[in-house]
Amino acid sequence: MNQSRKLCQLCGLPLTEDQSFLSLLGIMSTDSNNLCEDCCNQLVLINDIFCPNCGRLQATPEMCFDCIRWQNKGYPLLEHRAIYQYNDVMKTYMQQYKFNGDFLLKDLFNHDLIRLIDSIDKDIVVPIPVSHYTMQTRGFNQVSGMLNGQTLSDILSVTASKKDHQSQFGRRERMNRQQPFALSVSSQLVVGQRILLVDDVYTTGNTMYHAANLLYQAGAKTVKSISLAR
Ligand SMILES: [Zn+2]
Ligand SMILES: [Zn+2]
Repeated sequence: MNQSRKLCQLCGLPLTEDQSFLSLLGIMSTDSNNLCEDCCNQLVLINDIFCPNCGRLQATPEMCFDCIRWQNKGYPLLEHRAIYQYNDVMKTYMQQYKFNGDFLLKDLFNHDLIRLIDSIDKDIVVPIPVSHYTMQTRGFNQVSGMLNGQTLSDILSVTASKKDHQSQFGRRERMNRQQPFALSVSSQLVVGQRILLVDDVYTTGNTMYHAANLLYQAGAKTVKSISLAR
C-alpha cells in the first residue's frame, strides 16, 4: 500500500505522509486522510460562538435577526446545528458532490454528521427530499447519500415543480414560496414523534421551516434540524 499515491478528494493534489500522520493523531476533524492540508485548513468548524437557533457562525451568542423574524412569524424554533461554515471550500465540495455527480464524495463528512446526529435526542431522522426532477437528473438524494449507516425515515416528498426550483428566485421570493413538501406516509407515523431533519446546507431557513411546519401540522412532538454547512 503506497499512502503517498492517495489524492485529495477535493482538489486532486497528492497527499503527503504528514497528512496521514496528522489524521492519526486526530488533529484534523473529518475523514482528513482523504483531504489535503490546504483544503482541511479552509474548512471552518462552527463550534465556538453561533446563533443558538440557526447555528450561524457569528460574533455574539444571541439569536440572529433572521431567527427573530422566524420567531415573530410564529414558527416554533428549530435549534438548528451546522458543522461547517458554507465557505468556498464547502461550496466546492457541494458542487463536486451534487452537480458533477461525484458519488465517491458522499462519505467525506459521514462521521461528522453521524456524530452530530447521535448527540441529539430524536425518534426519527428525516432527510430533506429532492424533487422528482433532481432525482432523475442527479440520480441520488445528496442528503441521504452522506448518511450511510444511519437509519432514515423518508416521510417527506417534494411537490413543487421544476419551475419552482429555488435557484431562480431571490431571497424574498424564497421566503414567501408556497409549501414545497408533502407527507409521503400516513400522519399516524408522525404523531408524537421527535423528528430530526437533515439537509446539506442551511441558507435562508425556508426549506427547514416549511418541512417543520408540515410535520408539526401532522402531529410531530418536536422538530429540530441539522445540516453539514451553514
Ligand atoms: Zn485539497
Ligand atoms: Zn439564527
